[in-house]
Amino acid sequence: MGPSEPQADTHATMDKIVSLCRRRGFVFPSSEIYGGLGSTYDYGHYGVLLKNAIKERWFEAMLQERDDIVALDSAVILHPRVWEASGHVEGFTDPLVDCRTCKKRFRADQLEGASCERKPSRRPGEGPDCDLTEARQFNLMFETTVGPVQESGARAYLRPETAQGIFINFKNVLQLARRRPPFGIAQIGKSFRNEITPGNFLFRVREFELMEMEFFVPPAEADDWYRHWIDERLAWYVRYGIRPGAMRVRQHGAEELSHYSSGTSDIEYLYPIGWLELEGIANRGDFDLRRHSELSGTKLEYVDPGGERYVPHVIEPAVSVERMLLAFLVDAYHEEVVGERERVVLRLHPQIAPVKAAVLPLVAKDEAMVERARALYEELRLAHAVEYDDGGAIGRRYRRQDEIGTPFALTIDEQTLADDTVTIRNRDSLSQERIALAQASAYLSDALARPWAAPEGTPVAPAAE
Ligand code: ATP
Repeated sequence: MGPSEPQADTHATMDKIVSLCRRRGFVFPSSEIYGGLGSTYDYGHYGVLLKNAIKERWFEAMLQERDDIVALDSAVILHPRVWEASGHVEGFTDPLVDCRTCKKRFRADQLEGASCERKPSRRPGEGPDCDLTEARQFNLMFETTVGPVQESGARAYLRPETAQGIFINFKNVLQLARRRPPFGIAQIGKSFRNEITPGNFLFRVREFELMEMEFFVPPAEADDWYRHWIDERLAWYVRYGIRPGAMRVRQHGAEELSHYSSGTSDIEYLYPIGWLELEGIANRGDFDLRRHSELSGTKLEYVDPGGERYVPHVIEPAVSVERMLLAFLVDAYHEEVVGERERVVLRLHPQIAPVKAAVLPLVAKDEAMVERARALYEELRLAHAVEYDDGGAIGRRYRRQDEIGTPFALTIDEQTLADDTVTIRNRDSLSQERIALAQASAYLSDALARPWAAPEGTPVAPAAE
């Protein structure tokens, strides 16, 4: 390997990801000027672009590349009986214990992995001063009051998942979208859970965006579709560059299954904190449609053209944008030595990267270069998310683009002025190619449409911290 070729030899840790997100304006702790609000985050410009790209690719796979799924955008606050029917009022709880000494709260079923506030080397309950309460069930739904008078207003909840908004619209979609099983309804939307122990950056937050798709099928086909969706979702991650070796499928044991589920598999990702659930794929059976039929009095069923009635079974892939974004960042993060210098690079799939190309005038004060660079930028941004960057030495600008994962940088230099060509620098290989300015737009469109995989030599296992 020559001195200027990159040597991938490092791994992401959670601290490095948090620091990159902050440094480059992807994600900030929320309400910082008031001292922050634990485990709540705001997204800056690149964070928004990255989230948008993730959501677009997900919707594309659901709505555009198939013709058996339709979209929905249901309300955040639903009729409170929805959550009675779904089992959330009674059962969406985690066991909670308080420590009377340090006033910290823990999940009773996760004490093993937690540490005592005063003696971090011990688990809660093991320190000399620990004084834990009995475990009690704590409902994770955020409550609110609908109506102007707090006492007499109706109690309602912020949705903890978007799925119920889909089930209660089953009849509308069936009739108005003229669908018959198997068909799906896909939704992306904010969801809220008052987690007892949020943490690990974006992994467990109280406010997150869920991407859920409920696929309604004839009961006899449920098992096949369940397997289909596990394969389909795994293939989606691989297609967008997540290394197959950093994912695995874990099937829930009988004791672990949710009340509605007759089978659930997690796609786990090897985060820097270990193998953890990235996405869940559940076979929800007919639980939800039956419960809503019972409580609402509206029959949620399908009558086929032969007159046979049945309640479809439901297969659900569900994942949050936050856990996905974190997995993409961890997977893409690399530190390399190029020549004598270190560089941090996000090797994001070009279709996931927040910025697709940067246009850089080599000398920011050279009027002729600036003019050409601005013209190229104006042309490219008609079709792609591109950025014009003239701040600082060219090396610094490349490093900035590497850190936000921009796959291509187009540099306007002396030679451009002489022969109307531009260099295109490839983020992964660091190769530089010179092409005609007039072809830059077509080149970029082609390059972005090509399949992409993590370059050879990319390590598979992020190191545990
Ligand atoms: P966990 O066991 O980690 O609490 P869960 O099994 O309760 O998760 P589900 O109800 O299956 O989670 O939620 C579906 C998906 O929503 C998860 O696979 C994950 O991607 C995402 N998710 C759930 N809770 C959170 C959270 N607090 N913060 C970010 N994403 C979340």
